[in-house]
Amino acid sequence: MSVVNEIKCSHCGAPLTFEPGEMLTTCKYCGYTVLIETGEPFTLEHSLIINKFDQVQIEEPIKAWMRGGFLKPSDLAKKAKLTEKNLVYLPFWVVSVQATSTYKGVFERITPALSKEGKIEKEYDWLVLARKTAVFPTREYEVPLEGKIPYDFRKIESFARVLNSEIDKTEAEEQARQEIDENHRFLAQQDIDKIIEFKTEIKIEETVYLHVPIWFIKYEYKGKDYHLLIEGTTGTAVKGDIPSIKL
Ligand SMILES: [Zn+2]
Repeated sequence: MSVVNEIKCSHCGAPLTFEPGEMLTTCKYCGYTVLIETGEPFTLEHSLIINKFDQVQIEEPIKAWMRGGFLKPSDLAKKAKLTEKNLVYLPFWVVSVQATSTYKGVFERITPALSKEGKIEKEYDWLVLARKTAVFPTREYEVPLEGKIPYDFRKIESFARVLNSEIDKTEAEEQARQEIDENHRFLAQQDIDKIIEFKTEIKIEETVYLHVPIWFIKYEYKGKDYHLLIEGTTGTAVKGDIPSIKL
C-alpha cells in the first residue's frame, strides 16, 4: 500500500495514512476516524463486526463450504490447497430507511387491460459498499448487524487490513435511494406490466459507518486458482468460485 499523503490524528497525534480517492481514514493507533478533506472528526456512528477466526480456525468454515452444497467436486475439500487467507475489514454504509412507493400502471395480461394502483411500504437496513472497485455481492448479503459494536481498534488483528471509505455519507445515501427505487420498480412490475406513474419516498432514519471482517481466500484445485469470500463473524460463505464438474 503506497502512502501518498499524511495528516495527524487529532486525537492521539499519530500519523494517519490514506490513499487517493479515500474520504475517511481511521487511526490505526486509537481508532479515531476523520474526514480526509477537512480533517474534521467523523461524528456519526462508526461500528465494527467482530471477527471470530484466526488463520487456522478459518479453515473449518472453508472446508465446510467445500464439502457442502450441490455441484461441487466430491474431492474438493480433500484436494484443494489454500494458497491465500487474507483478513480484510471492508467498509460499508448501512442506511436505515422507511421507503414508500406508490404507483399507477396497466395490467395487460388480461383483455381488456386493467388500470391498477398500488403501494409498496418497506423498512430496510440498506447496505452500500464503501469501496468503488471491490467486488462484493452487497444485495445477496445480509450483515449480522446484531453483532455490531462501537469501532474498537484493539479488536483488529495485526495481520488484518482495514480499508477506508471511498464514498461519503451523502453519496452512500443517494446510492441507497436509487437502489431502493429500482428495487421497488422491479417489485411493482410483478403487479403491473406497464408503469405509468411511480414515486418513491424515502425517510432516512440513520446512517452508520461499519467495518465488516471478510476473509479473502484463494485456493488451488487441479492446477487452477479459485476465490472464496468468508465473513469472519459467522463463517458464512459470501461468494465462492466452484470448479466445474466434468460429466
Ligand atoms: Zn489516533
